[in-house]
Amino acid sequence: MERIVCKFGGSSLAGAQEFQRVKEILESDPRRSVVVVSAPGKSSEEPFKVTDMLLMCAQLASAGFRYDEIFEQIAERFRKLKYELKLSLDIEKLIEEINLHIGSGASAASCASRGEYLCAQLMADYLGWHFVDAADLFLFSSEGEIDEEETYRRIRNIMPSMERTVVPGFYGALPDGTLTTFRRGGSDITGSLLAAGLDAALYENWTDVPGLLMADPNIVKNVKPMRHMTYPELRELSYMGAKVLQEDAVFPLAKVGIPLQIRSTLLPEDPGTLIAENGVQSGIVTGIAVKKNFRVFTLEKAKMREDRGFLRKLLSVFESNRVTVEGTPTGIDSVSIIVSEEQLSGKLDKILEEIRMYCHPQRLTTQPGLALVVVVGKGMIRKKGVAAKIFTSLAQADINIRMISQGSSELSILVGVENEDANRAVSALYETFKGEE
Ligand code: ASP
Repeated sequence: MERIVCKFGGSSLAGAQEFQRVKEILESDPRRSVVVVSAPGKSSEEPFKVTDMLLMCAQLASAGFRYDEIFEQIAERFRKLKYELKLSLDIEKLIEEINLHIGSGASAASCASRGEYLCAQLMADYLGWHFVDAADLFLFSSEGEIDEEETYRRIRNIMPSMERTVVPGFYGALPDGTLTTFRRGGSDITGSLLAAGLDAALYENWTDVPGLLMADPNIVKNVKPMRHMTYPELRELSYMGAKVLQEDAVFPLAKVGIPLQIRSTLLPEDPGTLIAENGVQSGIVTGIAVKKNFRVFTLEKAKMREDRGFLRKLLSVFESNRVTVEGTPTGIDSVSIIVSEEQLSGKLDKILEEIRMYCHPQRLTTQPGLALVVVVGKGMIRKKGVAAKIFTSLAQADINIRMISQGSSELSILVGVENEDANRAVSALYETFKGEE
């Protein structure tokens, strides 16, 4: 039988009621045979994420302070889950082990991983499924990078082939056996590596939102969900800040072409968003995202094009200052470099001086306050006039465009506008494209 790997996020595991919902979802499709859980997150009754509380305990412990008050709140949360779900597992023993672990000076990551560990133990007991420890499956190098090859080998060897299994998300082991974690939100990566390693038919990522939305709901009211999209489209949108999934979770799936479905436990019948290698296109424009606070450096120099190595010299200034360049729109005798203000912090004067020294521009200006708005859609490739619509829409909203760039894959069009116009630009573009097929 085909397998579906399901991952449930912290808000879908916040209390006993949420656990019940998870059980119903899993039992409604027998292909859902591998489940990855995060640590319990926030809810209307629970103001803190278990992971944040564990990190606080680790921080207090490493500074030599008492952490028992916070630890007791974590312990109470798990005791309550055990009681309300009427489980038989020896929770006191597990709690005591974790308490000793924190007290023994374990690393912050190692302490943080215990939320997923306990949650998965409870879930396995509740469902009557196998528990497989993530420390036995996910191997990290001593530099803290996941060793995908060895991890896949272990997944194939260790995961019971027929049995239904619960795996804690977020963590794995270093070569010396100590525990470490992915970045925050990393249970998404656990799930995608498991799906890829097991050659699953589908990876379902269950959260509390009904899939990905076409634009940021904080900017646009009643925004439409995106039903289908491809991995490259998701990559463009998540790079630009549309966050539902941990960014790194996409790569293992995209590499082997396993589809990913983002769904809400609150609306289990809703199909959410399906992301696949060749997703069915639902519209010309799949989504619109925005990132603010960029700075543009503009250099002018006569016969710049004939000066071989000019761009290399210019880019090396940013590279040696460890600043990532977001884009380089060029004219005949001018070039602009776009970087985020966050990357630049404290380095602006040094960079300007180095550009003058190495590149000898006739004119060098720098302007802050740029926002990048990206309009993403695979459908643009086959459709004429999308760019015209974007510019007309922005002109009608009285928004000045400071920069334009189209990726060579024709998957997206990027426009630079003033920070203060950014939200209006997203709203105007959403209105223009929301009904387009
Ligand atoms: N519990 C971890 C976090 O809060 C990992 C996860 O939920 O994916 O970041």
